[in-house]
Amino acid sequence: MTSIIDETASSPVADSPARALVCRGCGAEYPLAAQHACYQCFGPLEVAYDPAALARVTRAQIVAGPQNIWRYAPLLPVGQDPASRVTLDPGLTPLVSASALAAELGITAPLWVKDDSANPTHSFKDRVVSVALTAARGLGFTRFACASTGNLANSVAAHAARAGTPSIVFIPGDLEQGKVITTAVYGGDLVAIEGSYDDVNRLCSELVETDEFEDTAFVNVNVRPFYAEGSKTLGYEVAEQLGWRIPAQVVIPMASGELLTKIDKAFSELVEIGLVDAPAGGWRVFGAQSAGCNPIATALHKGTDEIVPVRPTGIAKSLNIGDPAAGLYALEAVRRTGGWMDYADDDEIRAAIQLLARTTGVFAETAGGVTTAVLRKLVASGRLDPSLETVVFNTGEGLKTIDAVAEQVGPTHRVKPSLRAAREAGLLG
Ligand SMILES: *Cc1c(COP(=O)(O)O)cnc(C)c1O
Ligand SMILES: [Zn+2]
Repeated sequence: MTSIIDETASSPVADSPARALVCRGCGAEYPLAAQHACYQCFGPLEVAYDPAALARVTRAQIVAGPQNIWRYAPLLPVGQDPASRVTLDPGLTPLVSASALAAELGITAPLWVKDDSANPTHSFKDRVVSVALTAARGLGFTRFACASTGNLANSVAAHAARAGTPSIVFIPGDLEQGKVITTAVYGGDLVAIEGSYDDVNRLCSELVETDEFEDTAFVNVNVRPFYAEGSKTLGYEVAEQLGWRIPAQVVIPMASGELLTKIDKAFSELVEIGLVDAPAGGWRVFGAQSAGCNPIATALHKGTDEIVPVRPTGIAKSLNIGDPAAGLYALEAVRRTGGWMDYADDDEIRAAIQLLARTTGVFAETAGGVTTAVLRKLVASGRLDPSLETVVFNTGEGLKTIDAVAEQVGPTHRVKPSLRAAREAGLLG
């Protein structure tokens, strides 16, 4: 209800540019609420925006914003009012020049590592969780939850602790200690399920329908359309950090495939609203999986849209989603842009973690090893053009999956504390 006073009072808080939830399958529209599947075709829902509202966003407005993801609030569905945010203020993570890695792989154009391990809970998941939980609180939810492969649990538990809201997170029982402890320390409920991530996800889809969980927002189930939008900020940031340019090639790890589709969406939005020009020849999106969980890459290689679920194995546990919800849309983005997908086995992942660390000073978790290993393969196979600027995404922190390389690396020398011993060990040349 509007009065003359309301209309003339100037509010410092801009409205959300989001307009509706739209079905990715059939295009049916729904109000912005806690709904993730279409009532008509059961397809996944996505946030749609008012094009006029997006078109009003300027570079100056973004640059004047805070030093975190909320500088892009004019392009997000929620969080325009700072007081409404449930957040650890993630974002503006380093874009690291990787010239030594480029030289080693035979890449002649600039190569960058977007290092999202620098977020508050050390993975890109802080971006999606901040947006999802801000939406959740706005929708009246009083408990926060998720089905997680590890990093999501870590982030939800930390956000809930900061917000003073109860949380209950669900993980597969065989996760790395570095993911379990960094979640449990925040004091919420942490439920280890005897099963795979896909089992955990199925259980959460059932729990969310119960009366007992009516007040609970599962960030990647009932508020998933909002969660997914948080990933766009990775794309916006890369473009801004490159001086308002989009790189010609991006290499992105895939679990559900959502992150890949949203980086592509972010680039498209920036071009549509005139904040950046597309690179000559457009941008190409490349997807990375592990050999132990490669259903999306396998479908691409077979030239089909049929993604056959797998039972994941291997050390890249944060990417171990055997039945990927956004797989079809990841295939679409990669095909449309002329990119490719590939996968790496555990030995290749371990070697790539060390390669990335040695050449850039970035210690990645296994997911970053997957992405770096796949970058190497894409160059070797000629799928990725070594003469075009490329950004590779490191989405998580090496300390959380330290066992992956624990047997490969250690002290290079063991020496008694004397000059003579140091000389005998060859340390003086
Ligand atoms: C969750 C996750 C991803 C991928 O997420 P999707 O959007 O499900 O594809 C990538 N890297 C890390 C480290 C993650 O935790
Ligand atoms: Zn539909």
